[in-house]
Amino acid sequence: MENLGRFIEYDPTGFTLREAIIEAKRCLNCNKPLCRTGCPIENEIPDFIQAMANGNLGLASTIIAHRSNLPAVCGRVCPHEKQCEGACILNKRGKGIKIGKIERFIADMDGELSLTAAIIKKKEAGKIAVIGSGPAGLTVAGDLAKIGFSVTVFDAQQEAGGVLMYGIPEFRLPKQVVRREVKKIANLGVEFKLNTMIGPSLTIDKLFADGFDAVFIGTGNALAKSLPLPGIKLPGVMQATYFLQMVSLANQGSISSIEVPIHSGDNVVVIGAGNTAIDAARTAVRREAASVTIINRNRAEEMAALPSEVSAACDEGVHIISLRSPMELIGEYFVTGLRCNIVHDPGKDKNLIITEKSTIIPANKVIIAIGQRPASRIIGSTKGIEVDKAGYVKTRPNPYGMTMRSGVFSGGDVVNGPATVVKAMKDAKMVAKGIAEYVEAKKLMEKCGLKMID
Ligand SMILES: Cc1cc2nc3c(=O)[nH]c(=O)nc-3n(C[C@H](O)[C@H](O)[C@H](O)COP(=O)(O)OP(=O)(O)OC[C@H]3O[C@@H](n4cnc5c(N)ncnc54)[C@H](O)[C@@H]3O)c2cc1C
Ligand code: SF4
Repeated sequence: MENLGRFIEYDPTGFTLREAIIEAKRCLNCNKPLCRTGCPIENEIPDFIQAMANGNLGLASTIIAHRSNLPAVCGRVCPHEKQCEGACILNKRGKGIKIGKIERFIADMDGELSLTAAIIKKKEAGKIAVIGSGPAGLTVAGDLAKIGFSVTVFDAQQEAGGVLMYGIPEFRLPKQVVRREVKKIANLGVEFKLNTMIGPSLTIDKLFADGFDAVFIGTGNALAKSLPLPGIKLPGVMQATYFLQMVSLANQGSISSIEVPIHSGDNVVVIGAGNTAIDAARTAVRREAASVTIINRNRAEEMAALPSEVSAACDEGVHIISLRSPMELIGEYFVTGLRCNIVHDPGKDKNLIITEKSTIIPANKVIIAIGQRPASRIIGSTKGIEVDKAGYVKTRPNPYGMTMRSGVFSGGDVVNGPATVVKAMKDAKMVAKGIAEYVEAKKLMEKCGLKMID
């Protein structure tokens, strides 16, 4: 099969200063800015665009920091076409403002040139433990540090960032960008304790005994969902999250490239239709696989992945086959193919029918990308935290984000299921407020010689 080693990078450069100013000048500075309504964290979009249009990058960056701790990340990976950019009024005249690229430009300039300085508050408001350094944990840490809390972030991995560091591939989100955003949060006075798993040995009870006033759990969806197919345990079959993590570790220099399970010349099949499947496929292309094929059970137009990501994958040579239902992984000692049944589409609004007719797609590597769910290390070692049937942590509306155990809060994907970076941030911002309210009330009651009750 044809080697797919050559590919185009997806928008690797972003705007130049000239392009960013020209684009910002197109903005109408609307009275009722629909772009802001379209942003889950209600970024002050028209204000930072006006600052950009005037060439005032420091002011633009300061305005963004009112609502976001991760603008260089959001500028790259948010589904802008479904959010701010999709809502921009100028779409009606043909071309909405490229808000994501403007945000990315401002954040990158600030990151590279230190246009703004961190304002470090005295840490007098209380002591908070944050478990997990993904977008949710980083947002809680940043927001609470900004209002005077002493925050320590614990993460099991050797570098902070969660999925930003170990899931989303380098070509979409350079890890230097993630490191720079984490450093900005550390500059607010946040302490990071990495390579530290909270769970069986270092428990939440121990964190409280060490004097933390509240604990935030932002541990995401760490477990990949398995697919109960015959042959699933054959060598050559792997989870997408494992593959993407191994590539990140190899890029960091923590493991050798040979240990990454996909190599030049492999014929790769990816099962799944979401953004993780697309990321795994595009990463396999960059590993110089001979062929990469995505198998989608549903109609092509119903793929969960963003259309822009699907088309970028196709441009790079990824082959997408829709209406195939995976039935069995074939092979004796290692995987040699995937048997699928052909799915019949009786037409729009009618249910798809899996037929008896089958086909085999040859492959020596098969990647499973059908979703993730939460791990239970913390829940299993801590009394009083309730989860639903699927393992997602149950929280209360008041104080926002508190679990069924007093003082323990949770947010992001471990509560709401797999979502997006900005949705995890939105939830975490609300939880940070809930934590601040709780700790303030707790301190007041302690001052009066009273104790909190559940
Ligand atoms: C491959 C992939 C690509 C994606 N692409 C995009 C995209 O382009 N755009 C977008 O908006 N969203 C994307 N998403 C979704 C997005 O990344 C997640 O919704 C978001 O990262 C969730 O944030 P979180 O903070 O809740 O959890 P996570 O980012 O999962 O972070 C959880 C952190 O908790 C740590 N942890 C877990 N258990 C413990 C423990 N017991 N002790 C200590 N630490 C622990 C983990 O090491 C991890 O660092 C993607 C997801 C994946 C998997
Ligand atoms: S909706 Fe579009 S034109 Fe109006 S303020 Fe927002 S970005 Fe500018």
